[in-house]
Amino acid sequence: MTYDAVVIGTGAGGAPLLARLAKAGLRVVALEAGKFWKPAQDFATDERAQDKLFWNDERLTAGNDALAFGNNNSGTGVGGSTLHYTAYTPRAQPDDLRIRSEFDVGEDWPIDFTDLEPYYDEVEQFLGVSGPSPYPWGPVRKRGYALGPLPVNKAGRLMEQGCRTLGIRTSPAANAALSASYYQDGVGHRPACINRGFCQAGCRNGAKASMDVTYIPLAMHYGAEIRPECFVTQFRRDASGKISEVIYVRNGQEERLHCKNVFLCAGAIETPRLLLLNGIANSSGQVGRNLMAHTALQIWGEFDDDIQPFKGIPGAVISEDTHRPAQRFGVPTDFVGGYLLQSIGVMPVTYLSQLARGRGLWGADLKRAAAAYNHVAGINILGDCLPYAHNYIELSDEKDSRGLPKPRVYFSNGENEERMTAHADQIMRQIWEAAGARNVWAFPRNAHVIGTCRMGHDPDTSVVNADGRAHDIPNLYISDNSTFPSALSVNPALTIMALALRTADKFLMSERAKE
Ligand SMILES: Cc1cc2nc3c(=O)[nH]c(=O)nc-3n(C[C@H](O)[C@H](O)[C@H](O)COP(=O)(O)OP(=O)(O)OC[C@H]3O[C@@H](n4cnc5c(N)ncnc54)[C@H](O)[C@@H]3O)c2cc1C
Ligand code: SF4
Repeated sequence: MTYDAVVIGTGAGGAPLLARLAKAGLRVVALEAGKFWKPAQDFATDERAQDKLFWNDERLTAGNDALAFGNNNSGTGVGGSTLHYTAYTPRAQPDDLRIRSEFDVGEDWPIDFTDLEPYYDEVEQFLGVSGPSPYPWGPVRKRGYALGPLPVNKAGRLMEQGCRTLGIRTSPAANAALSASYYQDGVGHRPACINRGFCQAGCRNGAKASMDVTYIPLAMHYGAEIRPECFVTQFRRDASGKISEVIYVRNGQEERLHCKNVFLCAGAIETPRLLLLNGIANSSGQVGRNLMAHTALQIWGEFDDDIQPFKGIPGAVISEDTHRPAQRFGVPTDFVGGYLLQSIGVMPVTYLSQLARGRGLWGADLKRAAAAYNHVAGINILGDCLPYAHNYIELSDEKDSRGLPKPRVYFSNGENEERMTAHADQIMRQIWEAAGARNVWAFPRNAHVIGTCRMGHDPDTSVVNADGRAHDIPNLYISDNSTFPSALSVNPALTIMALALRTADKFLMSERAKE
């Protein structure tokens, strides 16, 4: 049998596209390296047990700010990283896509905000995103959020208080978790969030819009086949250069599928790794290059109140006043681009490991700091990161358990990221001071790997075109966070999903044009 489309990876980039292709009547199959979990049975309120949701194969890391993987950066399973994401879903702002035009550095997107806007709206309505209407930042929305905002937890209320004192506007955040039960055509009813917290350990009751409870059931409703625990390793091409076979390993055995089209959605590390392993789609030399990771400094403080930082949706409150801080506050900045501010919740093991990694605490000192866990609240930023030649992934000489070269990932922040982080450090400390925090400390970090197979008009400087199709191989598309030409100053998942639907529509249009 020959499939119309093989989709590799079922995360934010794979699942929406899979559903769209299945709805169009195509014979589609998804190959997913991870398991197909049953949330009510498999998801425990136990961080250690839930380590299974992360991509734990070793990745070698290098550079001045070597990225942490595992639970910092990547997931696996049907649903991909959305199984453990915290479901913050802000839209990018129009100028996020035009950073080169605005500042003469970085890279513009080959598409505009108006290309994404209808897809943002569609995804928000389908997932049942909870958020405020109107939303204070960005272009006026054509439609309000599907549901009203979720309750604001204690960390969020403290951030609101500190920001109010400093004249920084805040708002309840947009979250892809349901503030009321919600019906989706093709999926059925999903229940409201019960504020259990532990969203990063997987949502047991299906209130969080991970792909396994939204676009995957929709895809299956329309006839898509899902093959979990299938690790793709190779592509075979026909005489015309098109991919005709996808080879994968299931239960230690090699299997193959014949296909007309391939959609590679394996995330910003495994997508370029697969292309490099197979030596394809890289006439530009850009596969694996331009890796970006959001600046994501966290500032923690202790309060007298009982905070219960594990409770409720972790990302309750947002401010985008720092999107272009110079415009908002009238004080010039020494960096380009911008960032947003978010209140954060944290699970206990994660917090303790951050105390060890970030503050270097151990033994009695770590115990003392850990005892304050119930009284800590955090704010973090999500900020632009420019693409640099020194940040990339390559194949190393070390082999993994499958005998394939492990990826080595180089990452160092540039001066722009360092200046932005210093700016944010000052603002967040002021917010916590105004809210009455003590023992304030900073945990510098980068989050989300982005941009290793970027899209663009020029085949010499990009891997895929504006429709997500590989410049070199006419039946290969990429749909995941590897195609972003710039990092954006917002969390990526909503944009990945919107782009995935657009890529599917562009593909379907080109197929219809052939008929
Ligand atoms: C702790 C945490 C919290 C986050 N919170 C947020 C948030 O609040 N908001 C937000 O916008 N973003 C958040 N993110 C980021 C967001 O989850 C990711 O950016 C996004 O899900 C990435 O989507 P993707 O489709 O590119 O890749 P993924 O969702 O990672 O999907 C890739 C899939 O491909 C599969 N795969 C890989 N290689 C192969 C192979 N060879 N064969 C078969 N399958 C393969 C993987 O198993 C995986 O399921 C968070 C990330 C982390 C780590
Ligand atoms: S807080 Fe809500 S969304 Fe998060 S895990 Fe709990 S029920 Fe799910």
